[in-house]
Amino acid sequence: MPELPEVETIRRSLAPCIGATIAAVDVWQWQLRKPVDRRALRSVVGRRIDQLLRRGKYLLVGLSDEQVLLLHFGMSGTLRIAPPEAQREEHDHLQLVLGDGRRLVLNDPRRFGLVWAGKLEETEELAQLGPDALSDDFTPEYLYRSLRRFSRAIKNVLLDQRVVAGIGNIYANEALFVAGLRPGRPARRLTRADAARLHAALRTTLSEAIAAGGSSIADFHDGNGRPGYFQLCFRVYDREGEPCITCGRAIRRVILTGRSSFFCPRCQH
Ligand SMILES: [Zn+2]
Repeated sequence: MPELPEVETIRRSLAPCIGATIAAVDVWQWQLRKPVDRRALRSVVGRRIDQLLRRGKYLLVGLSDEQVLLLHFGMSGTLRIAPPEAQREEHDHLQLVLGDGRRLVLNDPRRFGLVWAGKLEETEELAQLGPDALSDDFTPEYLYRSLRRFSRAIKNVLLDQRVVAGIGNIYANEALFVAGLRPGRPARRLTRADAARLHAALRTTLSEAIAAGGSSIADFHDGNGRPGYFQLCFRVYDREGEPCITCGRAIRRVILTGRSSFFCPRCQH
């Protein structure tokens, strides 16, 4: 959390800020996942927000002069538009003050988020990412060939951002159910047909979640403070012991490398 659909939801909700100039930056908490680079962050002041992009779970604020502000929301981060008169809230760590007085405020209770400013080609984080799960580069054939390289569980491979960017624990569980595949199955045993089904399931699940405004667990809200609704549509995630929506059998939970994995023992093979 937040995964691809939540970051995409934040990105879309911030569209009213495109064209605004960053007049000032205030930082209240320098210690996030990595310390915030004071000098780099100051370099965004005076620049205009030209575009908002997303790659995997990263939000890229494209600024004038080819500068970029890169944000990762860790476990619990959000970026919201606050009116000029709004008070600072608990866990607000930094804000971009826009020319018209509005502010873009980063809130992150667990502080696993990341903020970085500089030239796009200098970002180490993005260089290591695989193709975005909704991009044209992420094809069924790419997924098949990637899975063939690993003997570990399929779900663990889906969570590896170097293989495919944007998928976290919720959407990996949900897509594997839609594809009828068990999370713990060794990745390299998947056939081409399995990989094609999984690819389609990932695209569908992520698109449905974006349409629902993301999933509001861990108190997720978009840039305007609106919650998402996809948590009401979970097929298996966090439903241990509840009946499978297809066959009625109780959903099981197992732990794979420290993460809860949910599946139907009858529908997933
Ligand atoms: Zn079932």
